[in-house]
Amino acid sequence: MENENPAQCENHEDRDASAVCELCQSDLCEDCTFDVVDHKVCKACSEVDGRSYRELYRHNAWGSPDGFVTAVAAFPFVVGAMFIAGSLLIGLLGLLQFMSPGGIQWANYKTYFLIFVVGVFFVTIPKLYLAGVKWARYIILLLPALLLGMTYYFYSEEEDPKYLHFFLTWSFSYVALIVIAHFNPRTKLAFSIPLSDASLESCYRRSLKNYVAIASPVLALLSFAFPPLMLLSGALAVSGLANTRSKWPQVPWRVFALFGLILTFVSFIWMFKFLFGL
Ligand SMILES: [Zn+2]
Ligand SMILES: [Zn+2]
Repeated sequence: MENENPAQCENHEDRDASAVCELCQSDLCEDCTFDVVDHKVCKACSEVDGRSYRELYRHNAWGSPDGFVTAVAAFPFVVGAMFIAGSLLIGLLGLLQFMSPGGIQWANYKTYFLIFVVGVFFVTIPKLYLAGVKWARYIILLLPALLLGMTYYFYSEEEDPKYLHFFLTWSFSYVALIVIAHFNPRTKLAFSIPLSDASLESCYRRSLKNYVAIASPVLALLSFAFPPLMLLSGALAVSGLANTRSKWPQVPWRVFALFGLILTFVSFIWMFKFLFGL
């Protein structure tokens, strides 16, 4: 006999305990043991305010954007803000020039206005997407199409293909990000779309393993060579950080996610250094 006085189940005096609750250390028989993603706990500890941990995860993710949704929204928002600021600034400088004897070509104002309108569109759609408006998941696909159209309009005639290549790679990488985000089950929760129990379970398990946090700094480093990867490294960093908010079961790799976020930011600054030859 291994144990002369085997512990009894806390709820059933006539049964031997086969497990100990990981949270409150009470002795449990098989019937009283609950499983929270491979952690054995008692019934009381398997719930928070009457919700299982998996339900709690669904509750917290419901209608709340994760890293992928944030990255999908952030990219066109930054581009749109730059279009608006740029068109206003150039337009204003043009007006000032108009006061002076040099004169100004009115034809250019059509272009400034077009860039301004596109900028407003680029800022508005991501806001709807981030707010969890369901049809914005499809409307967002118009943005890379628009970006590609503008790229051809402005840069296909240029002799130096630097900017053409730049916008092309960003547009296609952005499409890839949108597609990844679209099929990510976590995105469905962000848009309040019901998930099956099986996908919810695998989604929850993935969030506890938090491999996205490890992948983030790796992709951020690669983004120094291929800048559009920073869309992905940023998305993974924000997701990885959000995962570590869970108090129990504890989620590892928080430092990796933070490191990924910082590296992504440095890579973003570095890209402008390259782009404008600063
Ligand atoms: Zn317990
Ligand atoms: Zn029991």
